[in-house]
Amino acid sequence: MSEPLVIVGNGMAAARLVDELAKTALGRYAIAVIGDEPRLAYNRVLLSSVLAGETASHDIELKPAAWWRDRGVTLKYGCMATEIDVGRRELKIANDESIGFSRLVLATGSSPLRLNVAGADLAGVHTFRDSRDVDQLLALGAAKKRVVVVGGGLLGLEAAYGLAKAGASVTLLHLTDRLMERQLDAPAAQLLKLLVERKGIRILLNASTARLHGESRVEGVELTDGRRIDAEAVVFAAGIRPNVSLAREAGIPVNRGIVVDDHLRTGQQDIFALGECAEHRGICYGLVEPAYEQAGVLARHLAGRTAAYGGSVVATNLKVSGVGVFSAGDFTGADGSEAVVLNDPGHGTYKKLVISDRRLTGAVLVGDTADALWYLELIRNREPIAGIRNRMMFGRALATRSEAA
Ligand SMILES: Cc1cc2nc3c(=O)[nH]c(=O)nc-3n(C[C@H](O)[C@H](O)[C@H](O)COP(=O)(O)OP(=O)(O)OC[C@H]3O[C@@H](n4cnc5c(N)ncnc54)[C@H](O)[C@@H]3O)c2cc1C
Repeated sequence: MSEPLVIVGNGMAAARLVDELAKTALGRYAIAVIGDEPRLAYNRVLLSSVLAGETASHDIELKPAAWWRDRGVTLKYGCMATEIDVGRRELKIANDESIGFSRLVLATGSSPLRLNVAGADLAGVHTFRDSRDVDQLLALGAAKKRVVVVGGGLLGLEAAYGLAKAGASVTLLHLTDRLMERQLDAPAAQLLKLLVERKGIRILLNASTARLHGESRVEGVELTDGRRIDAEAVVFAAGIRPNVSLAREAGIPVNRGIVVDDHLRTGQQDIFALGECAEHRGICYGLVEPAYEQAGVLARHLAGRTAAYGGSVVATNLKVSGVGVFSAGDFTGADGSEAVVLNDPGHGTYKKLVISDRRLTGAVLVGDTADALWYLELIRNREPIAGIRNRMMFGRALATRSEAA
């Protein structure tokens, strides 16, 4: 008889895990997926394209209903899991139902942070995490509202771009002196700012939010230096927090995320975690690629095969049309590394390749990102680059053609 395997969360990590399990452990588990969003799992990454009007919301579903049915998966969506009874091996669901498990996987993702400032709970204050948020942001665009986006990281930039494209008048606030400071060095960030401003978005740097004004609806944002920006809506895109409460309340060890080992096992036997809610070797990844790598490892582990997860080399791509941005690996250049840089602000191009120990260890591209995946492969595979070093900056075609010649 198949063992009951229950997955909490019906997001990107869960969908990939089921896909991998269907290939590696077909028939061994009777899988149930409990998700609180009221729709089938979808590609959350593409919410930015939905907001920008480049993709329809119904086109981002990861798998159609028949795919889940054909694999015998019991899907419960629109259902919040509320408690894990570790002793009885039961998961409680909001509507008083409970479901037994022999293995439990937590794939609960993250929640967007709302700044802890006065006015943060006023009407008109939004976040950008799920398809319900996108519907609300699209309505702001359609009504040509004045919107302040708080946060100049990947998510904030994509929110600002989508809102502006939808018709809103957008001001983007960023806390530090450069955009995407965790992925870009100063010249890359400066060029990005220029390119984004050309899209009609106003950007304020060194902008620390002190409070939001308004009686019942938000009317403006006040910064700590006294500046005030009028706004009919505010979008917080200032970070995420892993969803760990279910695990914590069940006594499962949690730091920032749910602590897992190289087999994605939590501190509680037969309970696993993956994706954004998990913390592996002190890292909570906020990107989908690590979640997919973890899903592959966990599926093999659950199938009784040998597999271990050793961490991921992460890369970031900004998906704002016309503004190509890519960053991977050690982009700052640790001690002992060298940086090869091409900086042409007039042409809207910046490239930086970081080389350490005769290998590519980091890359930043703004403007032209056509070779991003090739650079990422070189970084991930730790390939020696001596033979292509002098041409590598000019892209794959040139570097590898000359290598073959
Ligand atoms: C707008 C946007 C753009 C992004 N762009 C990129 C990008 O370009 N590149 C990239 O790598 N990443 C990007 N990301 C991040 C990426 O989407 C996440 O890393 C990925 O979705 C993580 O997958 P997950 O399954 O861990 O979490 P999620 O996809 O968030 O899934 C978790 C699910 O669990 C549900 N859940 C939580 N608690 C419970 C509970 N108690 N009971 C039932 N269900 C529960 C949640 O509602 C959610 O549906 C973006 C994210 C957003 C919001």
